[in-house]
Amino acid sequence: MKLFIACLGTETHTFSAIPTGLESFRETMLFHGDGTQSGDLFAGPLRLWRDRALADGMEVVESLAAFAEPGGPTVRQVYEDFRAEILADLAGAGAVDMVLLNLHGAMVAEGYDDCEGDLTAAIRAAVGEDVVIGVELDLHCSLTRKLVAAADVIVTFKEYPHVDVVERAAEVYDLALATQRGEIRPVMAVHDCRMVHLWRTPFEPMRGFVDAMSAAEGHDGILSVSFAHGFPWGNVPETTARMLVVADGDGDKARATAADFAGRLWAMREETRDPSLSIDAALDRALAAAEAGTGPVVLADTSDNAGCGAPSDATFILAALLERGLTNVVSGVYWDPVSVRFCREAGEGAVLNLRIGGKCGPSSGAPVDLRCEVRAILTDARQPFGRATAKMGDVVWLRAAGIDLVINSKRTQTFHPQAFEQLGIDLNAARLVVVKSTQHFHAGFAPVAAEIIYVGGPGATAPAFAEIPLSKLDGPFWPKDADPFQAA
Ligand SMILES: [Zn+2]
Repeated sequence: MKLFIACLGTETHTFSAIPTGLESFRETMLFHGDGTQSGDLFAGPLRLWRDRALADGMEVVESLAAFAEPGGPTVRQVYEDFRAEILADLAGAGAVDMVLLNLHGAMVAEGYDDCEGDLTAAIRAAVGEDVVIGVELDLHCSLTRKLVAAADVIVTFKEYPHVDVVERAAEVYDLALATQRGEIRPVMAVHDCRMVHLWRTPFEPMRGFVDAMSAAEGHDGILSVSFAHGFPWGNVPETTARMLVVADGDGDKARATAADFAGRLWAMREETRDPSLSIDAALDRALAAAEAGTGPVVLADTSDNAGCGAPSDATFILAALLERGLTNVVSGVYWDPVSVRFCREAGEGAVLNLRIGGKCGPSSGAPVDLRCEVRAILTDARQPFGRATAKMGDVVWLRAAGIDLVINSKRTQTFHPQAFEQLGIDLNAARLVVVKSTQHFHAGFAPVAAEIIYVGGPGATAPAFAEIPLSKLDGPFWPKDADPFQAA
């Protein structure tokens, strides 16, 4: 048996001014056939697939492993070259029995609204109908008809924060292998929920919803249940949330189960509204909580989340902190390669004037001029995320006006307390910690936080879902339309 594996992904914020070109992939992850030899965060599924296949006595052919930090649309030539590389590797592999793809699901390139559908359909055309194609997707995916038609089995992450990437990869492997062996006959059904939103899975009622998805699997002919949340800032025709059910040979069962879960989700829509507060309301609440509790209050700047394609250099909350004269605050991570460069030149201990953030456009706010002490500098730093680590580039700890700021050279969201602590910052001594992240910070920061507060101020990923100008989206959607089904 021969298994072919590849990874290609990024999450495209189609309104972003940050181009996603070859440099963005190089900076995050780019391997040509040897990605499993890296400990890279985004190569986790490929590593699992290779290990499992070798243990099962298969031959493994490994192709591209490429992932870029979310940003604007991928440069056309870059996508087309990646697609050509995967197809050339596939042709060079000769006859294969299974293809497993680790894709994101919300990748848009110039001229391609649905990169995953395009790529998977091209692979299907190359291998024919008898080769099993299994796909793992981020739950923030556009589950398009083209992609579903081209694959045999699709499984998305269930958790946000995405702490189950490797578990879902194992399910893709198991289901694809059972299909290849003729033990199951997977049939996929998709139910369009007509919703555009972010759902956080650690909290009820989403916790129970995800647990019910898991509980439905493995009996009554249901092989897998996924909730594809969609990606709110991807202006493409099929970005709404969708339920996906894989059943064993029974299309009616798959459709009924998908519709049932979609109905449950719709019924919880008011309870799952975004919890974010305005900047002022969030700071008021945080200060009250900091007096009452022990440990820092963590505020999440959800509107400037690099993980959703935002610049990660917005200054709206920083400006509010300075205006209120708040001290004993840690804030980061601000993407500011220019200031990082200045700090490296000046060295640790230097005191210099820096223009922090606000560099990428209106969604970044205005830059903030501060006299800063350079407290520490790290080169090629990383931060934990799940069982792997993610690149941060060069990282600098600055102290200015009683606030500890962390800036870096490689755009990324803040995943873990280590992003700060590895510089020598004591988070337990801080009153407030402001992190640039929507939800991935939660797994790392919840254990140390007295309270977590979501802030939804201005920014590229502000959680104002009804106001995102989704001009390409097919038909109405909640929350823009109170009843998108009736409006349809
Ligand atoms: Zn995601």
